[in-house]
Amino acid sequence: MQRWGMSQNPRGRALVSRYILDKGFYDRLRAARPTFRLVEQFIVPPYGGRGFTVRKGQAFRFTDVEGPQIGDVALWNADDPRREYFRPSHSMSVEGMFINLYTRLWSDVPMFRPMATCIEDTVRTASPEKGWHNHFPGSHCTPEIREMSTGRAGLNACHLNFLQAVEPFGLTEPDIHDNFMVFQRLRIDPVRGVRIFGKTDAKKGDIIEFFAEINLLVALSVCPSGDGKRVKDPDKLVVRPIGVEIYDTGIEPKESPRWADWRPTWRGRWVPPPPLSAAPASR
Ligand SMILES: [Zn+2]
Repeated sequence: MQRWGMSQNPRGRALVSRYILDKGFYDRLRAARPTFRLVEQFIVPPYGGRGFTVRKGQAFRFTDVEGPQIGDVALWNADDPRREYFRPSHSMSVEGMFINLYTRLWSDVPMFRPMATCIEDTVRTASPEKGWHNHFPGSHCTPEIREMSTGRAGLNACHLNFLQAVEPFGLTEPDIHDNFMVFQRLRIDPVRGVRIFGKTDAKKGDIIEFFAEINLLVALSVCPSGDGKRVKDPDKLVVRPIGVEIYDTGIEPKESPRWADWRPTWRGRWVPPPPLSAAPASR
């Protein structure tokens, strides 16, 4: 099934069809998980952030090591972080509002390609038929949002933890964009369109794991929201660490999409392309 743009363009069809999810590839990758070789593991403490690089073809795993805990995760191209990073809105237009097994996380144009793909998720969601889910693209808490919701300044926030994570890599606050959330229970109110958050379904030992499609800089924030349970006093939130593991998979990623680049011929406004009959024969 073709799920996105260009499918009506006869010249684009072959190109697009290469980027429909190759489920067989990811099933083989998942079957090989017992052979993955652990190369690095560490724990990110409560109210902390850490950045780390993952080479394409490696896998990275997040584990709620001590109990339920929400994590916020941001991605950049490790080789060109200012030019390419995870873009939730574009990713949602291709993959939908939630992150499931096989969901790919896409970057912004001009690259517009999968940066990572979910290859394991052990969280058992309660009441999924009511729209609840546990991982999704979105944004992160900031000191400003937390001040707005609590009336208190000076609280920890994922924005600060991301800053802590990326500064060792030479990035600063303007390099922090949107991200995705793991172990964060949520549903979308179908009438009001607002997101409703709940206590995560993740339990101690639950994991979510991704395959790196390109060389990545990954930042993890251990969110001060803890397990997502609503409490009035932010001092009552229980915040737990999150474990990170990086694995060699021994499997090369699939080729990234390559889109027609309109930029070199851009002259300040769109001009219709020549009729198909006048176009060079497609390959
Ligand atoms: Zn947060």
